[in-house]
Amino acid sequence: MNNKVILISIDGMRPDGVLRCGNAFVDELMQRGSYTMDAQTVFPSVTLPCHMSMFHSVPPERHGMTTNLYMPQVRPINGLFEQIAGAGGSCAMYYGWEPLRDVARPGSLRFAEYFNAYAADATDGYLTDRAIARIESDHPDFVFLYMVETDEKGGHDSGWMTDTYLGYISAAIDNVKRVVERFGDEYTVIVTADHGGHGRGHGSDDPQDMTIPMFFLGGRFAPGVALEQVTILDLAPTIASILGVPAAPEWEGKVL
Ligand SMILES: [Zn+2]
Repeated sequence: MNNKVILISIDGMRPDGVLRCGNAFVDELMQRGSYTMDAQTVFPSVTLPCHMSMFHSVPPERHGMTTNLYMPQVRPINGLFEQIAGAGGSCAMYYGWEPLRDVARPGSLRFAEYFNAYAADATDGYLTDRAIARIESDHPDFVFLYMVETDEKGGHDSGWMTDTYLGYISAAIDNVKRVVERFGDEYTVIVTADHGGHGRGHGSDDPQDMTIPMFFLGGRFAPGVALEQVTILDLAPTIASILGVPAAPEWEGKVL
């Protein structure tokens, strides 16, 4: 495919968290690309339901996942991975939380690697290394890089907006920087979160849980533009459009 996309999901990253994390590359993301600090995720603001909506462009009441326990869809909808693979594209996925494996159906991934985030320190960085190596060797059309440490080791273990939480966001942004500096010319890079959080958790319809940041660098996205009225349902149609892949007929989001 002529246009390629890297999607990076930083689990549990709040907009005010990324703005306050102290990493200078956040300003660069906003200057070099289009962005929003008030995109909306879906309810319940829980990891698997939100990522199912990210890739299937329908709310949880349609795809059926309302907890982190995967259930086969009753009325199955193709997700982004299936649409790309069906059009002959190659997909890669790197992830630090095992239930996420179900966002892609068997047969839709050419490359994948999972590494339990609690098995070592800096697993986000390790998975970024692995994704970078694979992109350099095989140039997959679509790469999904999922970093869980901000949510698990930052939010749940220490509390949202604590120094520890902000430190994990800053470390995740360092990983984003490595990807953008290496592949920003070849790929459109999109950075998002699945949900926010408050206290030691998330899952409610509180704006602190429901509001997420998004950054779009390269390709059709003009520098320094603030996007409005964006939801997590818009990601799959937008990425499919960039790649030149048809959207599934059931998808409800819009192309940005
Ligand atoms: Zn999550």
